[in-house]
Amino acid sequence: MCASLCCMQAKDALKGIIDLMTDPDMPMNIDPAILHFPYKVDQETGRCEKLSADNTFCTVYLDRPILCNLDKATKAMGFPMELFWPSNAEACNHYLTEAGIPKDQQIDLDRLRMDLLQQSVERGKRPPLAEPQEPQAS
Ligand code: SF4
Repeated sequence: MCASLCCMQAKDALKGIIDLMTDPDMPMNIDPAILHFPYKVDQETGRCEKLSADNTFCTVYLDRPILCNLDKATKAMGFPMELFWPSNAEACNHYLTEAGIPKDQQIDLDRLRMDLLQQSVERGKRPPLAEPQEPQAS
């Protein structure tokens, strides 16, 4: 379920995404333009100004910044979605847990990983698994 919790805590959520995108250990070549977030975020609550008054939807959803658009951000980074999407889902589950949302209403990370792996296999991105090697005689 999406409860707009990251938009209510956009200050932390955006920092988490930017930290991940700019992690020097990650094999990414980021265009700084995609890190730009043009809207105001309440420095006390962390809430994004573009969240609807009833906290249920983004009022600029179709034109939201790349940082808020997982699909576009993944493509812009050239980063495998199999790694980036579960990281985001973990963060989402963290917010859901803090809000008291039970596990069975959170993102099933194992299922997500399997779905993403299946999609990448179907796109032909992954080589078939290697044949098991015979043990070497000593
Ligand atoms: S722009 Fe929209 S999606 Fe992005 S943090 Fe604000 S409300 Fe959320």
